[in-house]
Order: sequence, then C-alpha cells, then structure tokens
Amino acid sequence: MRADAVVLGAGMVGISVAVHLQSRGRSTVLVDRRGAAEETSFGNAGLIQREGVYPYGFPHDFGALVRYGTNRTIDAYYHPSALVEIAPFLWKYWKHSRRRRHAAIARLYSRLIEHCVTEHDTLAAAAGATELIRRDGWIRAFRTNEKRDRGFAEAESWKREFGLAYRALDARALAEAEPHLAPVLSGGIHWTEPTTVVDPNALALAYVRLFERLGGRFVQGNAATLEADGALWRLRTAAGPLEAGAAVVALGPWADVLTRALGYALPLAVKRGYHMHYRAAGTATLNRPVLDSESGYCLAPMARGIRLTTGAEFALRDAIRTPVQLGRAEPIARNLFPLAERLDTEPWMGARPCTPDMMPIIGPAPRHANLWFAFGHAHHGLTLGPVTGRLVAEMMTGEAPFVDPAPYRADRF
Ligand SMILES: Cc1cc2nc3c(=O)[nH]c(=O)nc-3n(C[C@H](O)[C@H](O)[C@H](O)COP(=O)(O)OP(=O)(O)OC[C@H]3O[C@@H](n4cnc5c(N)ncnc54)[C@H](O)[C@@H]3O)c2cc1C
Repeated sequence: MRADAVVLGAGMVGISVAVHLQSRGRSTVLVDRRGAAEETSFGNAGLIQREGVYPYGFPHDFGALVRYGTNRTIDAYYHPSALVEIAPFLWKYWKHSRRRRHAAIARLYSRLIEHCVTEHDTLAAAAGATELIRRDGWIRAFRTNEKRDRGFAEAESWKREFGLAYRALDARALAEAEPHLAPVLSGGIHWTEPTTVVDPNALALAYVRLFERLGGRFVQGNAATLEADGALWRLRTAAGPLEAGAAVVALGPWADVLTRALGYALPLAVKRGYHMHYRAAGTATLNRPVLDSESGYCLAPMARGIRLTTGAEFALRDAIRTPVQLGRAEPIARNLFPLAERLDTEPWMGARPCTPDMMPIIGPAPRHANLWFAFGHAHHGLTLGPVTGRLVAEMMTGEAPFVDPAPYRADRF
C-alpha cells in the first residue's frame, strides 16, 4: 500500500486529521490497533467546550491543596504509588497554573477554542451527523452562594476578555431550566455557546465514514512498527506493508510510547477518568449536561442514558483501574437527580493525554522530516479534534494556517 500520509491513532484527533488531509486530496491511511474511537474518544462527557478558554489548571489555593492531599475528594484522586514518577510533571503543571502564567496560556489556547463549535459543525454537516450534536449548552452548577458568586464573577471576566456568552442562573432560574434536579443548588452558569454530543463514539464513527467516502482507508496496525526509510515512512498493517510520504502521530495517551522510541523526551502524563450510564428514573429528564462543580462530577444526557463522568485520577496510564471517584460520586448524584439502575456492567475508563502547560502538541516533529505531532489535548480532545485536524492538514499541505500554530509546537519543551 502507498499513501501520501499515514495517521497513527483513530481517536477524535487522528480521525479529524485524516478527514482534513483526505479532503485536501492527500491519499491518507488511518491506522489504529483497535477499532476507531474505542479509547479516550469513546467515553467523554460530550462537551464541545466553546467556553473552555482556560485549560483546567492545578489548584493554587491552600484549602484546595489540603483537601486534595487527603485523597478523599471526588474531583481528584491519586495513586500514592505513582507520585514519585509523576512528580516532575505535577511540579511543571503547578508552575504553569500560576495565575499570570495561566492567563497567558489562556490567551494562546483561546485561539484554538474559539473555532471548536464551527469546525465540528462543518465536519458533522459533511458527515450527515448533525443530529448527534445538541445546542442547549451546559450548566456549571453550584451548591453554595459563595462559590456561585465567585463563578459568576469569573464568567463575567471571561465574557469581557474572550467575548463568551452565558446566563447567570439563580436557584429559581436553574430549577426552571432543569426541573428534575433536587433543590439543593444555589445557581449555575449556563454556558450557551458550547454544543454537546449525545454519543461521542457515534460522532467519531460518522467522521470515519466521511473519511472513507472521500477515498481514505482505515486499517488496523501497530504504530510501534513505524520506521523511517529515507524520505518515506514504513508501517506494517493488517492490510499489508504501508509506505507513506508523511506520518502523523495522533496516539492520544499512548503518544509518548512512539515519540520516546523516536528519541523525543516530551513531558506527558495522563489524568484518568471514568464513566457509568444510568437509566433516568420515571419520567425524569436532564435537558443538558450539568457539572456539579463543588462535588466534582458531571451528569450528561446521552443516547444510552445519563452518563456520569468523573474528574481527574492521577495514576500511571496502565495501572490497575480504581473507580474510587465513581463510587464516591454516585450517591451524591443520586441525591441530585433521580438515577435508576446502572446500565453498564463495568465502569468505562479513559486517560486524558496531558502536557504540563495544558496546551496540546500540534505541528512538525523537531528532528524528523515529514513527521507531525497531534496529541496532548487533555480535557479537550473532543472539543479540539476538528480544529487540530484542520490546522495540521493546512500545515502539511502548505496552506496558510487558519490559526497561528507557533504556540503549540513540540519544540516549546
Ligand atoms: C471522563 C472523561 C471525560 C471527558 N470529557 C470531555 C469533554 O466533555 N469534552 C472534551 O473535549 N474532552 C473530554 N475528555 C477528553 C477527551 O476524551 C480526550 O482528550 C480525547 O478523546 C483524546 O483524543 P485522542 O484522539 O487524542 O486520543 P484517543 O481517543 O485515546 O485515541 C488514540 C488512539 O490511538 C490508538 N493507539 C494507541 N496505541 C497504538 C498503537 N501502538 N498502534 C496503533 N494505534 C494505537 C488507540 O487505540 C486510540 O484509538 C474527557 C476525557 C475523560 C477521560
């Protein structure tokens, strides 16, 4: 097999890169060792976070640090045995999360985020998958007046700086918007511009079908077999040997396995997370995803049921699954919304691929010709898949990039 490009990894990011390359006339083979979108892109909360201009930082207030130190919170949990190995990452992450640095990062990051809804809409329309995307925004709910008012002030400052739209809901307005939530909330921020996906796996598969309709080919293979041969890249796949003019690494949380083998020491780590689906009891409905922000979990209405997703688990990527946060969140969620029985036999787990400065790595590999990186999207890989796909494809084909790609290059580390 010969192709202009091979894209390694068929999560939301790799699929989007492949669609954009193929639609620019570059014959592209998309490779995954599994089926498409069966890993991290399968199980997220489905938020296309137009408001997510501040990537999730490491908390700096003393109270939060003490709380996290006890390892008893729902929003963050860590494996004590992993701390030594991930300490260098955490230290850098903490430094990048300092107020001024975080604000500077947000200004760079927002240039990607601002296109997330429109880039998804373009792909979803071409893929005939617009019915998977809902336009009711999502709600960040609060339990105390103090946190709510602080949240409103932050939303207002983001509105001023980034032009984001929101509705400030007091307890009554929140109850009107989501009548089946228990009256235990003090209010919420209704982010009105983000869109949400009712089945993230189905959306990714619709993009794969679009890629194939455009003439692209999806095959199974192991990225570890990638070898440089002069100006070409060779890979062994289930459909036979492949020879490609360029290779794109879009392996999400596994990217460092390949980049390390190629001689790059990139500071990557993962924040793992879990989900479980529930049937909504009786006639209860949830109109849009709700983040119970002071408890630290999200409830999202999905095609399969109500999906509860958990916050960050700091652990080694391949360590044994420990759905502790799900166990802690479930009783609290049941008191907030009438959840009936669990619909999955086991909790699903995924690993958010993270960099310490909270921005993805997008662009040319520093020391190899015709090798490109597209990974490290952390909490926003669903959100930023199509934006990344377009940006990478524009760079690879010599078009003027629609966003200045300089801040996201690998050589910043
Ligand atoms: C609980 C949870 C909730 C989340 N909620 C949201 C949300 O609401 N909004 C949002 O934007 N993001 C969310 N995220 C983050 C988002 O899901 C990820 O950022 C995104 O899925 C990453 O996509 P990816 O394509 O980079 O990686 P992946 O989807 O993991 O894709 C990588 C692919 O590489 C393949 N692969 C790995 N190794 C090899 C190999 N050796 N050879 C071949 N193939 C290989 C894998 O099989 C996989 O298919 C959430 C994540 C979690 C865990």
